[in-house]
Amino acid sequence: MLKALFPGSFDPPTLGHLNILERASRIYDEIEVVVAVNPKKEYTFTAEERYTMMVQLVEELPNVTVETWDKLIVSYADKVGARIILRGVRALADFEYEFELSMLNRGLKPTVETIFMPTDPQYFVLRSTSIKELARLGGDISSMVPGFVATALRERLGVA
Ligand code: ADP
Repeated sequence: MLKALFPGSFDPPTLGHLNILERASRIYDEIEVVVAVNPKKEYTFTAEERYTMMVQLVEELPNVTVETWDKLIVSYADKVGARIILRGVRALADFEYEFELSMLNRGLKPTVETIFMPTDPQYFVLRSTSIKELARLGGDISSMVPGFVATALRERLGVA
């Protein structure tokens, strides 16, 4: 059984996240999306909202489940017996941060491997922060997030 964890803020989940999960679900037997809960971070959506949106996003992927976690991802890996942390990478700028993070996690728990999956070119420019900015300015985000996320975002940001 090859189980991978896909941790992130998912504030909100995007079609870029879904693309990584669809592709990874064909490689791994099981994937657990781990929605990060960090009391020090300011989110647009609560942990429960991010969790609920993520559950809806992956409802057609039978081997993908969703959890929330407020501690180190390596301790979650320990808890569930996972040996792989999956991260998506877009531009080179992502790589620098992701590489450092993977070194940090490796230092904490060398038996857990971080695997990077490059984005599909279609989702190259998708990141949650820019999508929120675009939505705030009334831009069309329908090719970036599923309809239910677009609706939730418009409601939260108070745009018609
Ligand atoms: P974090 O706050 O931990 O960076 P995110 O929710 O932004 O969490 O992202 C979770 C994971 O999904 C990260 O590995 C991130 O690089 C990846 N990701 C986000 N958007 C895309 C995308 N458009 N294509 C590929 N990977 C992505």
